Amino acid sequence: MNRTIDIDEINRRIDAKKEDLIALTQDLIRIPTINPPGEFYDDCAHFIGDRMARRDFTVEYFRAEGSPGDTDQYPRMNIVARHHGGAGPCVHFNSHIDVVAVGKGWQQDPFAATLQGDRIYGRGACDMKGGLAASIIAVETYLEMFPDHPGAIEISGTADEESGGYGGVAYLAELGIMAKPRIDHVIIPEPLDKDRVCLGHRGVWWAEIETKGHIAHGSMPFDGDCAVRHMAAVLARFESELFPHLASKRTDMPVVPDGAKQSTLNINSMHGGESEAFEGLPTPLVADSCRMIIDRRFLIEEQLATVKQEVVSLLDGLRADRERFDYTIRDLFEVIPTMTDEHAPVVQAVSQAIEQVLHKPATMVVSPGTYDQKHIDRIGKLSDCIAYGPGILTLAHQPDEYVEVQDMIDSAKVMAISLHTLLNAAQA
Ligand SMILES: [Zn+2]
Repeated sequence: MNRTIDIDEINRRIDAKKEDLIALTQDLIRIPTINPPGEFYDDCAHFIGDRMARRDFTVEYFRAEGSPGDTDQYPRMNIVARHHGGAGPCVHFNSHIDVVAVGKGWQQDPFAATLQGDRIYGRGACDMKGGLAASIIAVETYLEMFPDHPGAIEISGTADEESGGYGGVAYLAELGIMAKPRIDHVIIPEPLDKDRVCLGHRGVWWAEIETKGHIAHGSMPFDGDCAVRHMAAVLARFESELFPHLASKRTDMPVVPDGAKQSTLNINSMHGGESEAFEGLPTPLVADSCRMIIDRRFLIEEQLATVKQEVVSLLDGLRADRERFDYTIRDLFEVIPTMTDEHAPVVQAVSQAIEQVLHKPATMVVSPGTYDQKHIDRIGKLSDCIAYGPGILTLAHQPDEYVEVQDMIDSAKVMAISLHTLLNAAQA
């Protein structure tokens, strides 16, 4: 077996597939897999599966029955395609097939996948159908050159990443599909820029805080107890104590952008008193409840229990200091930070390939938000995983989202070379 790879030949072959890559990206964008509710997952999964089956992949479909949002109308459909070679490791390329809502402010048709110059526009072009298309072209090119490769090559298209991945990667990891020992190395072609290797992400804790009050006639507020004023006291302590405390915590994780190198807390929403869901005049009432959703992003140096305790201690302090202050707090969602070692095989393989293709050193980064790597790490027990793919991170979820064709070509070259390195490393 020839274990060296001819970089010039990879470059030539992938350059020659430019039209195929453009058409594939356009076809994927034109399937409007909007989540929520999870439209056209079945169509998109079968589109991918049919193509891989024509390349002699074994194709399997997994519907995540019972996962959030799964119904007969909106099945959480996933596709996993595997190309069997000889003995050796399995390299897996995982892309989510869902895209977020279109939103306002588009000049382009979000599902026409118009090619203008070097850009293909559309919802999901950058996040992440461009990355999915690049990985498919990388794998197909590789198979033309090395039909008798060692190990196994997998391509997956998974559901619901944008809503937590429970009907997608988490489900497949629980089944043992996207897990050790079935697979060994994972590349997730999320849009992190073609010269950057994303090692992981910060942690997440979402919670709902409710302050309690006492209802009364609004003309005599002294007879009641206003929950909104109690929440104002919470906000004041956030400003005076919590935000400065969070800003003082810096991580050694290479998080981008720079502002995300510290702990952060976003107040996602707040509502007190009468429901907003009415037209016309309100009735005079003292608010007996005020609810706030917080979105705390934490660092690998922090423990989730401490992150929670900081907020609970602040609230308990108010209960001691402030008359009639009472609250409840409820966990909504949590993700532990994850970061792959810089010396891990997949990091090394992709970094070296970036240097070979782009002639500059790769940059190691960590994502400010989370993505499906958390499930592969925690449930699948597989730590040799990164995100690497074409597209500019800040364009994700924006109006007039696009992906550049040259970025897809370059990253496809990087993926094909990395694939070769990883498949052959165990046998060397
Ligand atoms: Zn994404």
